[in-house]
Amino acid sequence: MADPRVIIVGAGMSGLCMAIKLRQAGVGDITIYEKAGAVGGTWRDNTYPGLTCDVPSRFYQFSFATNPEWTHLYSPGPEICAYLDDIADRFDVRRHIVFGTEVTAARHTGGRWHVETSAGGTDEADFLVTATGVLHHPRHPDIPGLGTFAGATFHSARWDHDVPLRGRRVAVVGTGSTGVQITADLAGTAGRLLLFQRTAQWILPAPNRAYSRFTRAAHRRLPVLDRLGYRWHETVISKVLSQAIIKPGWQRRLIGAMCRRNLNKVADPDLRRRLTPPDEPMCKRLIASGGFYDAVQRDDVELVTDTISHVEPRGIVTADGRLHEADVLVLATGFDAHAYVRPMGLVAPDGRTLEEAWRDGPRAYRTVALPGFPNLFFLMGPHSPIGNYSLIAIAEAQAGYITGWIRRWRAGLVTSMAPRADATEAYNEAMRQAMPRTIWTSGCASWYLGKDGLPELWPWTPRDHARMLSTPEFAEFDVS
Ligand code: NAP
Repeated sequence: MADPRVIIVGAGMSGLCMAIKLRQAGVGDITIYEKAGAVGGTWRDNTYPGLTCDVPSRFYQFSFATNPEWTHLYSPGPEICAYLDDIADRFDVRRHIVFGTEVTAARHTGGRWHVETSAGGTDEADFLVTATGVLHHPRHPDIPGLGTFAGATFHSARWDHDVPLRGRRVAVVGTGSTGVQITADLAGTAGRLLLFQRTAQWILPAPNRAYSRFTRAAHRRLPVLDRLGYRWHETVISKVLSQAIIKPGWQRRLIGAMCRRNLNKVADPDLRRRLTPPDEPMCKRLIASGGFYDAVQRDDVELVTDTISHVEPRGIVTADGRLHEADVLVLATGFDAHAYVRPMGLVAPDGRTLEEAWRDGPRAYRTVALPGFPNLFFLMGPHSPIGNYSLIAIAEAQAGYITGWIRRWRAGLVTSMAPRADATEAYNEAMRQAMPRTIWTSGCASWYLGKDGLPELWPWTPRDHARMLSTPEFAEFDVS
């Protein structure tokens, strides 16, 4: 049996998952190119204060490598990063990683993918798998005068830990999941915290309780508890939150009521009014936080809802002409979620580029493959079910599916495979038809929406996604 050569781009959670699945299938000729100097992807890049995964730790982990040592219901970011670092060694995939090397281009010619790297090197492989993440490119707001600010300015995903915050005036722009977590954590440390909110967001109450030493010891001794914990959280999220998002029903009413009740914790009617979102709960990605409303009611925290006019050296000026003086300016303004895979330049055998294929927005076959681009697979590709769910579970389903195709190559059944254009179009049309039932189309602006105004997400349950990927439809592929 010939051993295929596989290049994986990115050593974040999904790249590691792919490499592990391949190794478990007996595929050993793997290279993972990672542009940074460490594994962990988003958990390596994001180090802001308060960084916590709002998906429970018992579910936000590999099903085949559960960790009894989680310290909290919702894991702090550094713990997840350490977990992924440990996984790279435990499953012996670190030796496959080439750090500090970015894949800049890849072209499919002569039946193989030919790859160019930032180091000036070239490589080739039978399969190319992109594991480059979703929220990777920080989005810097287009605020006039931003560059003139006299204090430190940085994006939340590029936190400058050399900048002292204790006792200083910190301005945070943005109230997405990131801005909310930063606010809940920094309130009380910063001398004064100014939170600039453009659109209020719904917040699901999620107090983060610590696991006791007893609980951790019990999980260490009885691995079945880890498995039960995984199954429990997966079931609750799948049966309640995922259902609430994709269709009307009691789940949607329940989550909505929980968010509205949570907002009532804000005692001051004017502050409560300003924190009341104009849209439905879950239209934007739902935020889960235990401490935000307490933080924002503190005397040393000010919620600013007037539109930002410009920045000047001393601080931020709002449309009412008021200058909000600050020492540090944090941009919690999100990411370019649609820059999937790019800027890497991919070229199909017929000369078509990925940029051309995705001119109207990223589209794929079943989230993992693209017509005309043989032996190319995506992890977290277009329309993956990434909202309020464990991306690790999704990566496992996708990596399992991709491994299935690589196994077939190895068995000599196929050498080239790409989804058919008509099957891809039928699948995308079914998704378009299902979108109106989802809460994302109920009227709000969010990074979920693509160029055509339609959500770039999976309109069914993550369980449906896993089911779809468990059985490859050979008839929907052009193979040779
Ligand atoms: P985000 O959800 O895109 O939020 C960006 C925030 O910045 C919004 O409040 C937005 O306001 C505001 N903003 C953008 N440009 C602005 C401007 N020019 N002036 C004023 N405000 C501006 O970004 P994020 O908070 O970084 O979160 C992104 C995603 O990362 C999340 O949705 C989630 O998927 C993931 N995340 C997950 C976790 C976790 O615990 N699992 C934690 C953090 C992040 P508008 O709402 O008005 O656009």
